[in-house]
Amino acid sequence: MPEQWKSEPTTAMNSFVLNNWLRENIRDLKPYSSARDEFDGEAMVFLDANESPFDTDFNRYPDPHQKELKSAISSVLDIPASNIFVGNGSDEAIDLLIRASCNPGQDRILTISPSYGMYTVCAAIQGVEVDTVLLNADFSLNTDRLVNELKPNHKLVFLCSPNNPTGNVLNVSDVAEVLKAFSGIVVLDEAYIDFANDGGLVSLIDKFQNLVILRTFSKAWGMAGARCGLALSQPGIIQVLDKIKYPYNINSHTQKLILEALKDRQKLDERINILVTERGMLVSAFKEIPGILEIFPSEANFILIKVESPDLIYQSLLSEGIVVRNRNRQPLCQGCLRISIGVPEENQLLLKKLKELLT
Ligand SMILES: *Cc1c(COP(=O)(O)O)cnc(C)c1O
Repeated sequence: MPEQWKSEPTTAMNSFVLNNWLRENIRDLKPYSSARDEFDGEAMVFLDANESPFDTDFNRYPDPHQKELKSAISSVLDIPASNIFVGNGSDEAIDLLIRASCNPGQDRILTISPSYGMYTVCAAIQGVEVDTVLLNADFSLNTDRLVNELKPNHKLVFLCSPNNPTGNVLNVSDVAEVLKAFSGIVVLDEAYIDFANDGGLVSLIDKFQNLVILRTFSKAWGMAGARCGLALSQPGIIQVLDKIKYPYNINSHTQKLILEALKDRQKLDERINILVTERGMLVSAFKEIPGILEIFPSEANFILIKVESPDLIYQSLLSEGIVVRNRNRQPLCQGCLRISIGVPEENQLLLKKLKELLT
């Protein structure tokens, strides 16, 4: 935890009150009680959930509370299980946070721009308006502008660090300034934090009752196909998310796969090391290509670059079978392509083609 926060009092940092933040119907909601909710203990014969009794490996419902999975995540992240929500991708947590707090047509969310598109999409599905605050030209947070934009009907502020598509980490003191100024919840999306130099801000969830950190197994952990992500926050907020999720949101196959992945920290570290090394290699190599006008510093597993004719380069790469992300039409990203770091052979192929196109 950054030194300056250690001495801060836990309460009275801002005026966040969970019960005021929640929509009334969510606050009063009595959750669905599943068959497995109502039973606790060791049983040999399960005749409570109308499942098939024939063993197909998948004939039983998964644990709706994900106890074993949460306990394993708790050890790996070194935070209590009561601070952990497990979602069907971190996208589920984004959706649930909006649905828990925002009355359609009335409440709003605030997000930075450019950033990840799902905050806006989830809000739009729910009929919730989105306000955006442009980042500074160097993609740092403009806290003055953001704090000035805050209105009483803003329920959530979405921040992303390292930010997608820009790749930079947000300044801790800027994030803390928003946390202190805002009486709603600040969601800090750390999908790419495993590739960053610092370990992120999970340690601040005890200090700030209005902080939710998002993590995902989709990027560094290599489990995008399994669909599993996390929201980390104070227990009151976790209880709300658990109350409103689909009872069996994480299927039993995914629970098993993530438990397996969690056991192999060494493989995770090896893969992160390879990608971080390749990122450095690509940055150096990009500097030698005259047609690459700008390379934005990245602490993620992708690099944002600026070129003269992004649409043309995008199409030319595509015709060579290489697909990158065209971010040319995103705010502050004119001319920009976002390139994920591949395995070394893929990166060499990309470099060869880029050199041909841009030299
Ligand atoms: C990829 C990504 C995610 C991951 O979402 P999942 O639903 O967990 O796969 C979340 N946030 C950002 C910013 C991302 O780029």
